Amino acid sequence: MNGLKSVRDSFVASHIASLPKSGIREFFDIVNTMDDVISLGVGEPDFTTPWNIREAGTFSLEQGHTAYTSNLGMLSLRKEICKYVNNHYHVGYNYNNECIVTIGVSEALDIAMRALLDPGDEVIYTTPCFVSYPAEITMAHGVPVPVPTYEKDAFALTPETLKSVITPRSKVLLLNFPCNPTGAVMGLENLKVVAEIAKENDLVVITDEIYSELIYDNWEHHSIAALDGMRERTIFLHGFSKAFAMTGWRVGYACGPAEIIDAMMKIHQYGIMSANTTSQEAALEALRNGYSSMLKMRESYRERRNVMVRMLNDMGLKCIMPQGAFYAFPNIQSTGLDSKTFARRLLEQQHVAVVPGIAFGECGEGYIRCCYATGIQDIIEAMNRMKKFVDSLKK
Ligand code: PMP
Repeated sequence: MNGLKSVRDSFVASHIASLPKSGIREFFDIVNTMDDVISLGVGEPDFTTPWNIREAGTFSLEQGHTAYTSNLGMLSLRKEICKYVNNHYHVGYNYNNECIVTIGVSEALDIAMRALLDPGDEVIYTTPCFVSYPAEITMAHGVPVPVPTYEKDAFALTPETLKSVITPRSKVLLLNFPCNPTGAVMGLENLKVVAEIAKENDLVVITDEIYSELIYDNWEHHSIAALDGMRERTIFLHGFSKAFAMTGWRVGYACGPAEIIDAMMKIHQYGIMSANTTSQEAALEALRNGYSSMLKMRESYRERRNVMVRMLNDMGLKCIMPQGAFYAFPNIQSTGLDSKTFARRLLEQQHVAVVPGIAFGECGEGYIRCCYATGIQDIIEAMNRMKKFVDSLKK
């Protein structure tokens, strides 16, 4: 036996050993072994990246652009990002030192956490939430502090619940509206109150606005970064994966105060060097000429959302109308099943894959996440199958 091993329980760092694997991936490994499954599971667009954006990537390769870019990302892309953020979110950033191009919002989140947190600092984040949040916080030696959101509030964050979890160790407030997995949004008035609480308690806000183009029914999206006194304490995260159907290109960005972006840049520089060059050129095309394609995809998501939410309610699964992202989050409590059992049995009996709400945090129990970035015929078929399953539980 290895001598070292005998004095250690494991070579793996304890904070990593105790990290659970993503509840979503675990489930979808099973899905991949089955035939005839309609998946409402994985949260990515079913559209292929629009042609002009793919062509920009191809052209970049044809021209032989195969070297590293600047650590912060291509200057032309950073300029375009800052212009886009100013036009759409009404907050101005300097492309020289307040913007960094990353490997998706995933990397931006990681380096933001590592740049901000000392061991033991608390990060407040709303739940149900994107599965990576608590893990990202733990990996950066922070302490995850979930703050629940409730169906009765349309899953928006309320000032009371936020205040109830703040302690002297609270350092960061992580927001994600429109929200994965609930589709919830935050109205301007609500956001203003949250901003005041952040200022009063000297919190840094990380706002993950990856779904902010995907909003429906004339909803107006507001970024907390644009509110009075918030720019200097906010890191704005965004990317290309969802709005431009570019998940596989792996490109996103962070904008924020120079001091923080500089700290994030150090981690990025040593860990990553620079984001993928081909993807950056494609992303540039997305910002310059991709908006109309996004609008078409959004219109299609809206139609699919309407069909799915109506069919869920008709079968007795109460589902509020999500105003953003591409997820419905129906309440399954009337079935008497917990969310894992519901999802497992639905998959086994009707070959429909959804994600159990518990995967998104404890307060996701009693719900399932159904992604509607799937063809309308598949959505209708999946809803018919789900109705059969729900009806069978009543017998
Ligand atoms: N944030 C949220 C809320 C997400 O849902 C996702 C992807 N599912 C990400 C960040 C990561 O996106 P990416 O790394 O592809 O930009």
